[in-house]
Amino acid sequence: MEKGKAYILGAGPGDFELLTLKAKRILETADCIIYDRLINPKILGLVKKEAEKIYLGKENTEGGKIQEEINRTLVQKCLEGKKVARVKGGDSFVFGRGGEEILALAEQRIPFEIVPGITSSIAVPTYAGIPVTHRNIARSFHVFTGHTMEDGTWHDFENIAKLEGSLIFLMGVKNLERIVQDLLRYGKAPDTPVAIIEKGATEHQKVHIGILENIVKLSKEREVKAPAIIIIGEVVALHPKLQWFETKKAKKILVTRDKKQAFEMSNYIRDKGGIPVELPLITIEEQEANIASLSKYSAILFNSPNGVNAFFRHIKDIRSLSKIKIGVVGEKTKEVLEQYKLLADFMPKEYLVDKLAEEAVQFTKENENILIVTSDISPCEPEIYSKLYQRNYEKIVLYHTQKRKLAKEDMIKRLEEIDIITFLSSSTVEAFYENMKGDLKSIQTKKIASIGPMTTASLQKLGIKVDYEAKNYTAKALIDTIFEDFE
Ligand code: SAH
Repeated sequence: MEKGKAYILGAGPGDFELLTLKAKRILETADCIIYDRLINPKILGLVKKEAEKIYLGKENTEGGKIQEEINRTLVQKCLEGKKVARVKGGDSFVFGRGGEEILALAEQRIPFEIVPGITSSIAVPTYAGIPVTHRNIARSFHVFTGHTMEDGTWHDFENIAKLEGSLIFLMGVKNLERIVQDLLRYGKAPDTPVAIIEKGATEHQKVHIGILENIVKLSKEREVKAPAIIIIGEVVALHPKLQWFETKKAKKILVTRDKKQAFEMSNYIRDKGGIPVELPLITIEEQEANIASLSKYSAILFNSPNGVNAFFRHIKDIRSLSKIKIGVVGEKTKEVLEQYKLLADFMPKEYLVDKLAEEAVQFTKENENILIVTSDISPCEPEIYSKLYQRNYEKIVLYHTQKRKLAKEDMIKRLEEIDIITFLSSSTVEAFYENMKGDLKSIQTKKIASIGPMTTASLQKLGIKVDYEAKNYTAKALIDTIFEDFE
């Protein structure tokens, strides 16, 4: 069998977008991915559905038997002829043991490529507004592991304490006290600024600032945990001025809509300076349906962007719509329709399917057929409309909305992290309430944002007060409303 190939990829720390274009291309075509704990889970979303995903992680990248297992797995999968992506947080050669993995591959003459990653040692301080070098302040930076060697050997702190550049420790949380003591013992000034950055470049980032003399106490009080970067030196004093990631606007906003749709909304939150936290509460699945000849219909009504997309996947020739009037509910639905080069003939002022059905009367004649494209759970009453308006309304369900079942404890954990919860439909409200088992304690201090009156009504019915409501019922408008509040 022909040998496969190994790709040793650094994925950068935290923020998913710190992945390089090259790593992305390789991940998208890999047959197998071997990854560790420090990569952003979204990276797995890039991988082909059928690709094999192997998690081999551990708390620390030094020591441990697991490295042998990683090497073995990597070699074995390549010998099976696969294109294997070995992905790690940061860069593979900065305490990433990439070199050892490559030696194991080379022994079997397995071809490999290496894609450098953005290392946390530089990027995590950057996310805290701390430059590792700065003119007249630090002319070098030095990166250390905070671990001792397996035989207990420790760094030569006598020399380290004399260095004038910034000192950066990875994997240093456990040995913080020892690092600080040794630096002080060998003459580093007790008032040297120190920063510890926990879970850098993620929505959980925390920056703790102190000086050598008090940082141990501070880190105990704040219960600092790995992964964290420790940076010691005068550059830390620049933090208040250069800080950019954690600002007043950097609110953490829970995005509860379907995973596929969350993407666009999350990006818009990022553009605004916020931090999206995704927790899909519903899933939307398109459904196959037999759309009989369209020629019998005088009008087609869409009550959501999903309906438009699902419908056009069923249409072979767009000219079959040429004589049909089209009505939509909502700006976003109109916009999506325009992507198919079709302009809506009408859109009711109120974002309700009942109003859409009513408005269709002006564009059709008595006894004509009207098709409503909708989901399984949208409120839609074709029989009632037919009676009311002397036309023949029919509905076709082209997608299903399913409420996701999530454990209450997991929900609470996510809720602890965030400031604002967005609800874009009544189904997400219901899913939320059901998963929380009706317990609303965890959201008492959170702001609640609703897409429009229907969703707001669903929230209020459950006793949840609404802080923000979108002006024109779009996700974008909702985010705008939230950020106007901070400005
Ligand atoms: N190869 C990685 C480092 C692996 S060693 C790189 O180049 O970044 C693991 C250590 O990296 C952790 O103990 C921590 O010190 C640091 N680290 C990695 N990601 C981090 C993050 N998002 N925030 C803070 N520290 C991080």
